[in-house]
Amino acid sequence: MKKQRSHTPRIRSRTSRQAPPSPPVLRVSGLTFAYPGRSVLRGISLEAREGEAVAILGPNGSGKSTLLKIIATLALPADGSVFLDRWDVAQHPGEARAHLGVVFQSPALDDKLTVLENLHFHGLLYGLAQPLLGDRIKESLEVFRLWDRRHERVEKLSGGLQRRVELAKGILHKPRLLLLDEPSTGLDPAARLEFWYFLRRILRSAPMCAILTTHLTDEADRCDRVLIMDRGEALAMGSPGELKGKLGGDIVVLQSSDLQKLRRKVHRHFRLDGTLSNTELHLRVPGGAEVLPRLVRSFPELIESATLRKPSLEDVFLQRTGHRLHHESAEATRGDS
Ligand code: ADP
Repeated sequence: MKKQRSHTPRIRSRTSRQAPPSPPVLRVSGLTFAYPGRSVLRGISLEAREGEAVAILGPNGSGKSTLLKIIATLALPADGSVFLDRWDVAQHPGEARAHLGVVFQSPALDDKLTVLENLHFHGLLYGLAQPLLGDRIKESLEVFRLWDRRHERVEKLSGGLQRRVELAKGILHKPRLLLLDEPSTGLDPAARLEFWYFLRRILRSAPMCAILTTHLTDEADRCDRVLIMDRGEALAMGSPGELKGKLGGDIVVLQSSDLQKLRRKVHRHFRLDGTLSNTELHLRVPGGAEVLPRLVRSFPELIESATLRKPSLEDVFLQRTGHRLHHESAEATRGDS
């Protein structure tokens, strides 16, 4: 007994000492950016650690691509800083680029060249020479199960395979950070699943992290952490579970031909403040399973349909902004003062 009691705490303390959080690979602090007459980013901060996939989630025009451009050394912020490991990217863009992999939204492959040729030229651009270049190409293509397709011209490959070639190219020089701009755009559901399988695989096998921009909540849901942005501002940061958990309760979604009237009545009789969204009234309530039938019984003439679900990242966005993620590009691009 004595032996066991003294042994157990020693193991525990050693385990806890062994797992300090790794220092962030990427540290973005207080980033501010403006085009002439238009403020685009205001005080954005963000971190990413080895093994993590971090999503920047926001509607069109919220500043996601601009943030990615600054991290990729393609634009300079007015204020704030970006560190990639020890490199301040504004001060040392060359060093930062050497440790960055970028997969842009629009394909950056030469589709008349073979898979192998595309990777070969990319490797040369990064200063890789034979025999290391050949080894790296083989390694990257094997990770993405593309080795057998290496002699095929890119134009002959499906969209999903082309995206895999882009990823293989993006990690060829073993970057610390992989930047992905709207990586699922143009991919069918099967190719998207495949993309996520391979992204997770490289994040497990190499000491790197990934930042991806998206306007899709289901894509952000797959990430370890999410930065929610709207109109150049960071609204929230956390794991998808934390962000949804903070919202709490259930979401009751009501449809009606007279949403304003329904909203007023719900407020008067239930003391619930709803958010109008398109043709729906969204109510965040504790114990939705009890509240929903009472609502339907109270306003049968007004309620056309009623559904109950757990909060989503879309609800987090709606709660923070008062508008939905997917149909306010016009609002978002209207600009800010
Ligand atoms: P997102 O990637 O979230 O769609 P962007 O970073 O592309 O957002 O754009 C953010 C804002 O900056 C938008 O309002 C957009 O209209 C504006 N913007 C983007 N590029 C330019 C530019 N070259 N000149 C002026 N405004 C720009």
